[in-house]
Amino acid sequence: MKLRIGLGFDVHPLQAGHDLWLGGIKLPSEKGAVGHSDADVLIHALCDALLGAANLRDIGFHFSNKDPQWKGKGSKHFLKEVTRMLFQKGWKVENVDCTLTLENPKINPHIPEMKKVLAPLMNISEEDISIKATTNEKLGYVGREEGVNALAVALISKM
Ligand code: MG
Repeated sequence: MKLRIGLGFDVHPLQAGHDLWLGGIKLPSEKGAVGHSDADVLIHALCDALLGAANLRDIGFHFSNKDPQWKGKGSKHFLKEVTRMLFQKGWKVENVDCTLTLENPKINPHIPEMKKVLAPLMNISEEDISIKATTNEKLGYVGREEGVNALAVALISKM
């Protein structure tokens, strides 16, 4: 069996009057993430981790933020599509681990629901998805609540 790992990172600005989509669900929040799609940093980082593991470039290469067909698009579609691209090359997802960094809202109560939404998109069990969250201790752009970021790693395998 061949194994590969990949790393993903994403950041989006936070602004009042926008929805906050994270891990495929919409969270109650005064500020939301701004982007061409629904600006779900967690899913974007996951897509890049998976694409990186399979050496298939990055999310911007496949779903350009200049392309009007992706404007306002739900990021769940990207993750499903990335999983399909990997499958076409013979890869299956083994597990993913991610960390979200933001000051507000508290993420922990929402993690079970995120896992439930993300698992079928990657054809894996909720047991194979780890989502962690941390604040940035009030430091920098995350600390000032100007942005949110996410890191993800993914392990994929091929027989
Ligand atoms: Mg993004």
